Amino acid sequence: MVLAAFFTCPKYFLTKEDPQRHTFRLFLAALTLSEVKLKVLILLLGYCLWGQGPLEAQVKPSSPRDRTQVNRRMSREVKPRNVILMIGDGMGLAQITAGMYANGNRIALEKFPVVGLVKTASARDLITDSAAGATAYACGQKTYNRAIAVDTNRRPLRTILELLEEEGYSTGLIATSSITDATPAAFYAHQPDRKMQEEIANDMLKVRVEVFAGGGRRYFEARSDGRNLLEAFRIMGYDVYTDWRQALGSRADRLVCLAAEDGLPRVSEGRGPFLPEFTVKSLEILNRNPKGFFLMVEGSQIDWGGHANDDQYIISEMLDFNDAIENVLDFAMKDGQTLVVVTADHETGGFGLTKGNLKGENIGGEFVTKDHTFCMVPVFAYGPGADKFSGIMENTEIYHRIRKLLKL
Ligand SMILES: [Zn+2]
Repeated sequence: MVLAAFFTCPKYFLTKEDPQRHTFRLFLAALTLSEVKLKVLILLLGYCLWGQGPLEAQVKPSSPRDRTQVNRRMSREVKPRNVILMIGDGMGLAQITAGMYANGNRIALEKFPVVGLVKTASARDLITDSAAGATAYACGQKTYNRAIAVDTNRRPLRTILELLEEEGYSTGLIATSSITDATPAAFYAHQPDRKMQEEIANDMLKVRVEVFAGGGRRYFEARSDGRNLLEAFRIMGYDVYTDWRQALGSRADRLVCLAAEDGLPRVSEGRGPFLPEFTVKSLEILNRNPKGFFLMVEGSQIDWGGHANDDQYIISEMLDFNDAIENVLDFAMKDGQTLVVVTADHETGGFGLTKGNLKGENIGGEFVTKDHTFCMVPVFAYGPGADKFSGIMENTEIYHRIRKLLKL
């Protein structure tokens, strides 16, 4: 009303009058406004309020123009406080599309305002494996297949997780494979070959990651050297669990949960919502650090579905990963200081979508290989700095762009 009166009768604001008379005249002025003027003013007020609103109010991109506005807004943001990197192992466009249609044409990735494409080749091969793929994301360098955070001369490369630990950030790793498997391993271990899983487990002791969860218990407590690394973690002050549901109740600041001897069961074979729920638990612990945190979450078994040429395996693992993405977005939208990057290390199976209907029934397809392919994979970004992840880029760029945003 006050604003309305100002537009129609600005002189009332410029003269010093008796306050009571003043208010009365303002009221009269508002009453005399035409309907058209009122509509214009309501729109103006709405725009002002919307423009000041939180980022989450603008996350649903409805048109290219909206998306541009969201991007512009995000590029003005300060550096992200937290970074969450989510890797769908073997998650190409076909895997995402199959999950989306099987889920009633909906997927959390649609809420990301920025999408790009990633070239996945490793240092010596067009077709990467997960070790070289994860090393590119963790260290910003291409290396040979099977290498765990070492360069082509087998020299250790400092990972983003190690760098951020040194800078005082909290860090976490979650996977549905063994935590010593190639993707998570490349963030904390340095070994010339991914099969050296006991050595990889030993490297975990050196990093002091706040939270790690997945499978791989045997590499920690049934080792050829007879050592029990889980006992060592207990002595270091970690809460150690082998049942992930129990681990959700932990109040510790450092948490280990190894819920299987090796990889966790398939979601279709009773794994339960380990990945989405443990992601929330990790965020609760990591977010206690005022400096910020780095969390890597891997949907490991989308890749295993591809290797098995099993479209239903792919879809169920894709939807489990989707639930984790949904939970991460919920956190990031409320928090407003978290950069979320979702991508894949490579595509698996050469999956082609040929089956299904618009009702989302019997969605599936065919495969051209039981191995990985070198097709580009998508990258999705949300939060401060998200606009840096559009366009076509090498996989090593993910590391460099995150590091640049963190000003490190
Ligand atoms: Zn694979």
